[in-house]
Amino acid sequence: MRWCSSSVLHLLRCVRSRSCTRRGRNRLPLWIREIWAYMRLLVQSLYFNSLTDSDVVFDSVFEPVFWTVDYVTRWFGTVFVCLVVILTSSIVVIAYVVLLPLVLNTYSPAWIAWHVCYGHWNLIMIAFHYYKATKTSPGCPPAEKSDTPFVSVCKKCIIPKPARTHHCGICNRCILKMDHHCPWLNNCVGHFNHRYFFSFCLFMTLGCVYCSISGRNLFLDAYNALETNYQTPAPPYTFKDKMINKSIIYMWVLTSTVGVALGALTIWHAVLISRGETSIERHINIKETKRLAKRGRVYRNPFNYGRLNNWKIFFGVEKRSHWVTRVLLPSGHTPHGDGLTWDILPVKKDLIPV
Ligand SMILES: [Zn+2]
Ligand SMILES: [Zn+2]
Repeated sequence: MRWCSSSVLHLLRCVRSRSCTRRGRNRLPLWIREIWAYMRLLVQSLYFNSLTDSDVVFDSVFEPVFWTVDYVTRWFGTVFVCLVVILTSSIVVIAYVVLLPLVLNTYSPAWIAWHVCYGHWNLIMIAFHYYKATKTSPGCPPAEKSDTPFVSVCKKCIIPKPARTHHCGICNRCILKMDHHCPWLNNCVGHFNHRYFFSFCLFMTLGCVYCSISGRNLFLDAYNALETNYQTPAPPYTFKDKMINKSIIYMWVLTSTVGVALGALTIWHAVLISRGETSIERHINIKETKRLAKRGRVYRNPFNYGRLNNWKIFFGVEKRSHWVTRVLLPSGHTPHGDGLTWDILPVKKDLIPV
């Protein structure tokens, strides 16, 4: 208390001496300037924080914008999920009603077997991983007191945050190894559903590319048929023919567009997984690299166990057969670790002997 009062006195003295030096330039009486300086000091003391930097100021100024975006994303979450289900179902219906009869009537038995087997495997993988990604909780740190090591305290939840944990403003809770909040899943992508999210993106991209490539000739035929429809006299297409052509065009345009966009996202996530970092950690690691580079030091991501090991940990591959049973087939196994504690570098060269 004594220290505080002496500090305030010292500050006031400084304020007074500064006021005196400006006396020549400023015509206001001294006592007004002293009150003004005191008021300024009082106001500044209300928001002064040694940790305040441009990021904190930016966050505070844009807080209403973030809040609105979070609120809208939370509200539209169910709409986005319905959209994914409806659009995917529409493609499956077109594949069964329009494409399958064409394939069965025109293709050789080997091609029929390939399309039927691949198409169904891909569809099962998409449906399984989407369902699991939306329904699996990404994982939260314990709210009650525990021995779990933590790196900071969440100022929103007021609970300790273990390494790699971040607060999601949309879910309004802390998420273990948070990657991002996905509106298309209406769920956060974190420790326990990261694999389901990535596999869904991967198999959805493969499915779209498959539909786009195998439906390319049908699309060109349908497009030309639709073009000739505007000629006079119009060709004698029945209503059923027109609907089939329009469905093929719809399917090709949708799958090609989604294939390109989701493909780019999948490649980006594959790069991040290879580096052993999440989308959030990407920003943190770039910042840390720059910060340490200024001091002439090199930053190393402590969660990067080497490219192959990162993939093995991500997919939960513990023996060779797991590449098939846990990656290429639907698998509900839990990920490596509990998401609360992490092995920090240096680690053995080959973490999992596969
Ligand atoms: Zn939190
Ligand atoms: Zn979230």
